[in-house]
Amino acid sequence: MPDVCPACGRPLVASVDSSLSRCAACKAQFVPTDATEISLSSVTRAGKPRKLLELSLSPEFKALYRLGRLIGSGAVGTVFQAIHLPMGRTVAVKFLVQRHESDLARFLREAKLLGSIRHPNVVQIFDIG
Ligand SMILES: [Zn+2]
Repeated sequence: MPDVCPACGRPLVASVDSSLSRCAACKAQFVPTDATEISLSSVTRAGKPRKLLELSLSPEFKALYRLGRLIGSGAVGTVFQAIHLPMGRTVAVKFLVQRHESDLARFLREAKLLGSIRHPNVVQIFDIG
């Protein structure tokens, strides 16, 4: 686990409501480098806890990507900054929140469509799976 925030250099502490480490100064959240599972939750407006993400990182995934800062999380998915290790490239990794059976098909369709577009203002898709 990194002990200082890569964003501001201040100490990181374990987060109470997730498996991520949190910077007390800038509030950024990070996936510990030795993490094999990620769980993330929030509280609804009604005050009820809601799971946003719960997954295991496979050895195959960890051989390709090192997850870093949590960029955002919402109804559709959770996005982390990451390093694509073979290329040494900074990327974003999005994990789908699958609420319905059709969500995965739509997610893959969207990724394939975005992957076919080349434009400076459109994110480039490198990998899906
Ligand atoms: Zn920080």
